[in-house]
Amino acid sequence: MSEEVKLAPIPDLGQRTDEITIYAGPCSVESAEQFNEVAECIADLGLTWIRGGAFKPRTNPHSFQGLGEEALKIMKSAGDTYGLKTLTEVMDSAHCQLVADYVDGLQVGARNFQNFSLLKKIGEVTADSHQMVLYKRGFAGTIAEWLAATDYITDHGNTNVVLCERGIRTFEAATRFTLDIAAVPVIHKQSLYPVCIDVSHPAGQRDLVPSLAKAAIAAGADSLMIEVHPNPPVALSDGPQQLTPAQFRELVAELRELAAVL
Ligand code: PEP
Ligand code: MN
Repeated sequence: MSEEVKLAPIPDLGQRTDEITIYAGPCSVESAEQFNEVAECIADLGLTWIRGGAFKPRTNPHSFQGLGEEALKIMKSAGDTYGLKTLTEVMDSAHCQLVADYVDGLQVGARNFQNFSLLKKIGEVTADSHQMVLYKRGFAGTIAEWLAATDYITDHGNTNVVLCERGIRTFEAATRFTLDIAAVPVIHKQSLYPVCIDVSHPAGQRDLVPSLAKAAIAAGADSLMIEVHPNPPVALSDGPQQLTPAQFRELVAELRELAAVL
């Protein structure tokens, strides 16, 4: 059998570079004050992107579900004020155009890994804009399934896709999810897509975040996702894993010793 691997289409220019992009920001957008505080920290550090959840995929329907369009407005305003690009998750096909109108990048969350109608809709909505689509791996998705499903997005003409490993389910309970660091070289061998490592969701606890971030850089990740909140103990989602702005500054300084970070 041939060992030859078919490479995916070439992504839009400028995606895979020697510099590491950081998608930092709170798990959820909770208020303009909260979001702007993180935006100021990110802009001060000279980074380019801010993330934040507007529509939240919560396990429990009684947990905070996100501020919806109000959050999108907060993100747009902060992006304009601080000169940052914005990234948020879209959970529902009906919201794709709305989300695309407010933010620079659209995230597909782990729980929608094989929501093919959502992937197709995102591809359609971003076909002309070529907005970045950050496509997360599902808890139980294989890399082969992930690369196959990526075509649901790219078949409409937007190849500006970043594949984001965020941990998978294994028997190990010491961390929230098991980070599959090998996904970086495997995907790099099999496609031309940039690979992001979300270090916050597999960690589940903020003290593990720096080690996972350094490991991701050592493995050759193109970008990192890191959750940052001005006051994690009162966060409306994922408090235990979010870094404070001071912790984030310290980590970025350490990461800059290892690699060029933008
Ligand atoms: C998130 O990025 O806030 C999120 C919900 O991530 P995931 O889909 O990886 O759980
Ligand atoms: Mn989160």
